[in-house]
Amino acid sequence: MADDAQQALPKMVDSGKLAEAFRLKGVKPNCPSCDKVGWDLRTGGGITGVTLSFGDTEGNTYMYGHSAICLVCKNCGFMKLHALEFYGDCLIEVPDGQPD
Ligand SMILES: [Zn+2]
Repeated sequence: MADDAQQALPKMVDSGKLAEAFRLKGVKPNCPSCDKVGWDLRTGGGITGVTLSFGDTEGNTYMYGHSAICLVCKNCGFMKLHALEFYGDCLIEVPDGQPD
């Protein structure tokens, strides 16, 4: 259907492209908590990332802040975030909405 064809396809982070982008930017591979090397890139339904909420001085909370890539240390569970806007070239389309 025409409407379906015009919808933006879901995207996910290509872990190989992300690893290369981290290398080029000098991102240290070691976990800052346990010093081991090994990160899990969480994906859910082909989408990788989280959105951070934020608040204002009036006490309002907004749920559409920065989008980030979340990585979890495979050894200790430490979680780190990288702003997705720095890694837009690492996104790939997921044609059927699911990862391979
Ligand atoms: Zn760790």
